[in-house]
Amino acid sequence: MPTSTAKPKPAPRKRSPKSLYSEADLAEIFRRFSIQRPEPKGELAHTNPFTLVVAVALSAQATDVGVNRATKDLFAVADTPQKMLALGEERLRDYIKTIGLYRNKAKNVIALSQKLIDDFGGQVPKTREELVTLPGVGRKTANVVMSMAFGIPTLAVDTHIFRIANRLLLAPGKTPDEVEDKMMKIIPKDYLYHAHHWLILHGRYCCKARKPECEKCVIADLCKSPEKTCDVPATLVELPPQVII
Ligand code: SF4
Repeated sequence: MPTSTAKPKPAPRKRSPKSLYSEADLAEIFRRFSIQRPEPKGELAHTNPFTLVVAVALSAQATDVGVNRATKDLFAVADTPQKMLALGEERLRDYIKTIGLYRNKAKNVIALSQKLIDDFGGQVPKTREELVTLPGVGRKTANVVMSMAFGIPTLAVDTHIFRIANRLLLAPGKTPDEVEDKMMKIIPKDYLYHAHHWLILHGRYCCKARKPECEKCVIADLCKSPEKTCDVPATLVELPPQVII
């Protein structure tokens, strides 16, 4: 019997569900992000889960730096729901009046403090279902709180993550919720905890909204964006600390 000289065909690269990227590509993308920023941190100052919920609720359409400036004095006098209620809405407004939409936010912070006392024994709950019942807390805030206060991996889809998911065709979606669902399925489990911050920082400092800086990008060879302008990845080194805004 003649033996065949044909080489066996290489096994097709495994693709993750709902993404153009193979599992190997996704693992490599996040491995590189993890080398650039080994310990990315959120910048919102807080001292406990309650002050984190308040800080995140105040941060909508405001910068972390601006929120931190206002909450420094506020949290010194009101770091529990009970103390926040004792402070009252009017005095709370004075502390946060440098933050956009502060009147509405003050109302929400007082209402959420009351709800924490009435329904949760004064403690911040850990599940998304419970967190979103708090006034002023949406899915994105709940995700940030779950991740930063309780170490539960989540992906709060902000403007940067939404853009990257669509631009790179990583997890295209029309709404943040759709992107979140798809991203949660494709991000390798080992990298899920920090993925949120890595993607935000990548969007803020490299894959920028108006014009991505592809020549500075460490995943330029892997990126499948029709908008990319360079195929050669930038040198992979750890970056100095950068601010998440
Ligand atoms: S190559 Fe360009 S488009 Fe792709 S991720 Fe990097 S910066 Fe963004």
